[in-house]
Amino acid sequence: MTTNDPDCLFCKIAAGEVPADVVRRGDRVMAFRDINPQAPTHVLLIPRDHHPDAASAARAGTGLLDEIAREAHAVAESEGIADTGYRLVFNTGSGAGQTVFHLHGHLLGGRGLEWPPG
Ligand code: 5GP
Repeated sequence: MTTNDPDCLFCKIAAGEVPADVVRRGDRVMAFRDINPQAPTHVLLIPRDHHPDAASAARAGTGLLDEIAREAHAVAESEGIADTGYRLVFNTGSGAGQTVFHLHGHLLGGRGLEWPPG
């Protein structure tokens, strides 16, 4: 059963109620381009079901983090950045910069990425 939050932006994107530049669509996870890209490739990977963050999805034993990592790699391959390398980031909590409280991984690549991140 799909769970969603009627006030959640990413639930609305998952439902097709808010438009997005979708690059990959699976049964449980979809990928779309970030509206404010921070790198030449900046794709968000979200579950269709609502989970506020990575920790809550992991606690629930959903397997979604594995699936997001697999889907992110598939997107990286189609974007041509799988060999050069990419970053998959889960901002968790407002102190870490999370602004949308629906689990999402940021796939970033296509340029040199600094470490440590800001
Ligand atoms: P967070 O800061 O929560 O880790 O990441 C949220 C991301 O969602 C940000 O990078 C932001 O640019 C992106 N974002 C916010 N609103 C929209 C939207 O309506 N469409 C798309 N495609 N991305 C969005």
